[in-house]
Amino acid sequence: MSPKPEKHYAERIGWLRAAVLGANDGIVSTASLLVGVAAAQVAHNEILIAGVAGLVAGAMSMAAGEYVSVSSQADTEKADLDREREELSTNNKFERDELTEIYMKRGLDAKLAAQVSEQLMAHDALGAHARDELGLTEIHTARPFQAAWTSAVTFALGAALPLLVAWLFPGQMLIPWIAGSSLVFLAAMGGVAARVGGANMLIGAVRVAFWGALAMAATALIGWLFGTNPA
Ligand SMILES: [Zn+2]
Repeated sequence: MSPKPEKHYAERIGWLRAAVLGANDGIVSTASLLVGVAAAQVAHNEILIAGVAGLVAGAMSMAAGEYVSVSSQADTEKADLDREREELSTNNKFERDELTEIYMKRGLDAKLAAQVSEQLMAHDALGAHARDELGLTEIHTARPFQAAWTSAVTFALGAALPLLVAWLFPGQMLIPWIAGSSLVFLAAMGGVAARVGGANMLIGAVRVAFWGALAMAATALIGWLFGTNPA
């Protein structure tokens, strides 16, 4: 029986990172917003309106930010590939020598390196240079729409958690419920992200929960200081 191929985390890193960051942002920014507004002693429906507005604003800005940054990455990749294509058509010998050198640096002897670059360039010259010279692989190809959507949707899903808690627990218990449940959500997200990325779960959980707690404490203080009638 042929051995099972080992799992690599790199394949999951791309979309996982965007998904977890989006959801964490959603939880932290919306929970902090809700806690801050609630600390200002406003009516329950005003707290919910602020939360929904925060969810929509946050999701749109995440999408816009990701789209713009990943699009400029895509532009850079395309410009690099265009230049490489040009080089290959005008300077083929130089390009082949360049590739040979790359393989020698990776440990191949001169003769084998020359053979490998010759065969790979005969098979797919641009592909070989894109992968081995520019470091562009299928996994890391920039996909602006995918990144924008992933961020917007995961932000909204993250933000919906404290919003749901705010809706379910009006009154005096609202702030403790939002703060407590959001810290549990954040710790769970941090732990899962660390686990899938092959890192220590506890450290991942504590790190995310710490910053979430700090953000909620800061907005609660501001809400309390500038609120309508602090108790
Ligand atoms: Zn090249």
